[in-house]
Amino acid sequence: MDNQQKYQGFRSIRNRILFFSILVTLVPSFGMGWFWFDMTHKATTEKVKQKLVDSANIAEHEINLWFKERNYDLRVFANSFVVLDNLSQYRMAVKSNVPKQEKKSLSNLRIISTYLTLIKNQFTDYRRLLVLDNDGKIIAASDTADQNRPVILPDNWKSQVEKAHFFTGDAYFIEEDLSPLILIGAPLVLANDSTQLGFFVMEVRLQGILPLLKDSLSIAVRGMSSETIILLKKDGRYILSTASPENHKETATASVRVLDLFNDPLHIQEFIDDRNVHVVGLASSFGNLPWGLVITENYDNVFAGLLQARNQIILITFFLTIIIGGSAIIVTRQILGPLKDLTSGVLRVAGGDLDVSVPIHRSDELGIVAGIFNEMVGRLKEDQTALELLATTDSLTGLANRKQIMADLAINLESFQRYSTEFSILMVDIDHFKTVNDSYGHLAGDAVLIQLARIFRENLRSLDSAGRFGGEEFLVILGKTDIHKALQTAERIRQAVDEHVFTCEDVSLHITISVGVTRVTSEDSNGVSLIDRADKALYEAKAAGRNRINLASDNSPDSSPVSQDGLE
Ligand code: GH3
Ligand code: MG
Ligand code: MG
Repeated sequence: MDNQQKYQGFRSIRNRILFFSILVTLVPSFGMGWFWFDMTHKATTEKVKQKLVDSANIAEHEINLWFKERNYDLRVFANSFVVLDNLSQYRMAVKSNVPKQEKKSLSNLRIISTYLTLIKNQFTDYRRLLVLDNDGKIIAASDTADQNRPVILPDNWKSQVEKAHFFTGDAYFIEEDLSPLILIGAPLVLANDSTQLGFFVMEVRLQGILPLLKDSLSIAVRGMSSETIILLKKDGRYILSTASPENHKETATASVRVLDLFNDPLHIQEFIDDRNVHVVGLASSFGNLPWGLVITENYDNVFAGLLQARNQIILITFFLTIIIGGSAIIVTRQILGPLKDLTSGVLRVAGGDLDVSVPIHRSDELGIVAGIFNEMVGRLKEDQTALELLATTDSLTGLANRKQIMADLAINLESFQRYSTEFSILMVDIDHFKTVNDSYGHLAGDAVLIQLARIFRENLRSLDSAGRFGGEEFLVILGKTDIHKALQTAERIRQAVDEHVFTCEDVSLHITISVGVTRVTSEDSNGVSLIDRADKALYEAKAAGRNRINLASDNSPDSSPVSQDGLE
């Protein structure tokens, strides 16, 4: 019991086995899964990056081509005979300062304006065509309204012209037009004497670039692309975006996150774009224009398969964990069941209980251990029984020894005191036993003692006990027996001894016994007074001539006196 209490709070190995099995499932699964995911994610990102870089290169190329075409148009228009001829006539008329010529000069300008209107109507890309004088003042425009609206030339337009015979500004927006615009211009020079007459300027709609940007995107599903290109000004303002068909007005500015991409051009990054879409994308700057491109791809489109596979791995790992965890519980139970039986068996044995048998469930190692344990306990029990017998039995007669018969007496006395279970005792002594020893030797005496013990056994019930009290003196306890029955039993034994022929080898002997009888009384607090009374009665029986029984005369006053005569 002590041991059981001591080991009550022990930690079972079940949880450790469960923990270990889950660990060996989760670590490799998640480890391999993570490794695979990381590798595939990197490879996919690299592939997407290549695709986006390709698209960015195509877009830049297309835009440059578009600008070259606009440039070419500009040169053609600027070199047209109509413009140059009328402009030089106009200049001469103005210089001559003759009033008649003034009218003529106005008609020259009208011709130029008509020409400009014709071009404007033919090409929708050109919002406004202007001819400026050398100071940058408008002298002819594609329509009258245009002529009145001032033209804002880039700050460095003159130096640009000096360098390249051409100038261009940055993209800009006006209320009256949906498209972003840009100014391009070239000097108007007479071929024969290289006189600079003024400038040919075009306000070009950048909207024309949008289809080119769309074409440069790689095609994904059903002719649709999941890529987006945004054309930005240096300051981050939107010019065009393939994501929104309507154009951005000047107020639309790219977020800091998007502009951040320009710090590390052509490096793919994952972020939330200005439409609040999760994307991967990169930035690219133009070599010759003050613009930038941001090209993005929908994150879910690229990584949908990968994310799905990742979720499947998590799901599979989850089920694997359940299956392996479940198997671990079953295996643990199979091991722990017999182990528990063994543990409780061991604890009971340690507590002194040898009536233990552990069930043998299986023929494995645990079954073998359980079998050996049972055998060991069985042997221990046999040894213990033998030891107990040695400690409590008289080796010569096989009856209880003095220690044991005194213990039996104490038990009977306790039972009497608790439940008033009456009992009686007999003190038996062989008559003239010394003579037997003296005449026939000790062995014969021993044989008599052995045969007398057998007579006791034959005449006593299971609830009686007989023990060797001294050399040839015996104490008999008669359980649940009143004094009348005790006297009868004593007499029966005395008679049996009297009638028995004791033998030892070829010697036959007649032996008698004397018996002192008494019963337990409420005065008897321990066995001493009882034995004293029986001893006295025995002494009196001896004195009265032996071979007789004698009831203790000084039994307690409540004892009913029994006449010995009645028995004889
Ligand atoms: P009484 O009728 O007065 O009892 O006479 P007694 O000769 O029996 O006298 P007592 O009871 O004093 O004698 C006891 C003798 O029992 C002494 C001893 O030699 C003998 N004895 C005691 N134990 C044993 C034993 O184990 N074996 C043998 N053979 N003799 C024993
Ligand atoms: Mg004696
Ligand atoms: Mg004697």
